[in-house]
Amino acid sequence: MNAPLTGQPALAFDIDAIRAQFPILSEQVRGGRLAYLDNAATTQKPESVLAAIDDYYRHKNSNVHRAVHDLAERATTAYEGARDRIAQWFKVAREEIVFTRGTTEAINLVAYSFLRPRLQAGDEVLLTGMEHHSNIVPWQLVAKEKGAKIVAAPVLDDGSLDLEGWTALLNERTKFIAVVHVSNSLGTVNPVEQMIAAAKARGIPVLVDGAQSVAHIAIDFPALGADFYTCSAHKAYGPTGFGCLVAKRAILDAMPPWHGGGDMIRTVSFEESTWNEAPYRFEAGTPDMAGAVGFAAALDWIASVGLDAIAAHEHALLLEGTALLAAVPGLRMIGTAKNKGGILAFVMDGGHAQDIGTILDQYGVAVRTGHHCTMPLMARFGVPATVRASLAAYNNREDLEQLAKALHKASRLLA
Ligand code: PMP
Repeated sequence: MNAPLTGQPALAFDIDAIRAQFPILSEQVRGGRLAYLDNAATTQKPESVLAAIDDYYRHKNSNVHRAVHDLAERATTAYEGARDRIAQWFKVAREEIVFTRGTTEAINLVAYSFLRPRLQAGDEVLLTGMEHHSNIVPWQLVAKEKGAKIVAAPVLDDGSLDLEGWTALLNERTKFIAVVHVSNSLGTVNPVEQMIAAAKARGIPVLVDGAQSVAHIAIDFPALGADFYTCSAHKAYGPTGFGCLVAKRAILDAMPPWHGGGDMIRTVSFEESTWNEAPYRFEAGTPDMAGAVGFAAALDWIASVGLDAIAAHEHALLLEGTALLAAVPGLRMIGTAKNKGGILAFVMDGGHAQDIGTILDQYGVAVRTGHHCTMPLMARFGVPATVRASLAAYNNREDLEQLAKALHKASRLLA
């Protein structure tokens, strides 16, 4: 990805040493070498993340926050230490990190706790035509209930956002803006800085869906200027079922709880309960302690390689992959925006995406096929589905060559 990054010194990028840290990459699939190119769906986990989770369960596991015994203290220290690490990553205070099950839950939290009480009949929520269903349906549920409207900005033919079209949709009825940072289906990197500036000029709150940016673009949340940023650990070399909402403290402090249960309260009686402070107010029940520890370890892993170095490596692979795919007969790329992350999405003459995915699997190439939870975007491009190869730090030239070779075979089979 060619977006400006952290400024951390990029270590020499030793791809073999990086691959060696991911045990699953040496699995044999269909009797041969695995080319794992389904990273936008979920990334693989390095030894250090596996070890951190293992260490948590072997040596620290207990419930957090509510006991005085040694193990409970270790669990709480590990869990809250992870919050410190994650807060440091986004350059925010620890109180500005709400742990969730991932991006989806974080967006729902904002939809129900922040937007629902503010939204009225006739109001508009402005999205883009390339949003993931997770960044459409929660707003739709709340909008339906309140008689508000969902508005989606147009996407241009190359898969970039029609920024002029988006700007033209801003008006006095726009009460909230949500935008995907990097499209999971196209790879498009949206001009979120410009969009946030335009929204701020009108006093409209903005949520950035960072599911596909967290592992590729450095996020300085205060500098970004958004009100909310959401992400999932599993797309950044961390565990599944864990993620966070990053939000300004003053905003979180003013938001009511949305899930009730243990840990989110200060006092409970049958007449009335009072709420814990943020972020605990939004974290009802026993949390995923190992998830938090694993996410912090994953961010440590990214930092150990250098996000700049990872981004440069992925960008080089993107260019190489684009050239290799251009030589496959009958293949048409979907998503060719100038500012693009490591996503190669395409359709092929004579075959449904599902068939192509099945052929690729026979050659050990793991890609995703389907609508990628972006049905409105598929409709925009007039296709039911695409094949999507998506890149991560551990992918190499061999993976791309394996993909291209299998695609040439598929093209011959489909002809
Ligand atoms: N937004 C985008 C852009 C995504 O790619 C995804 C995951 N595919 C999500 C949201 C939802 O993330 P999760 O399933 O981890 O909650």
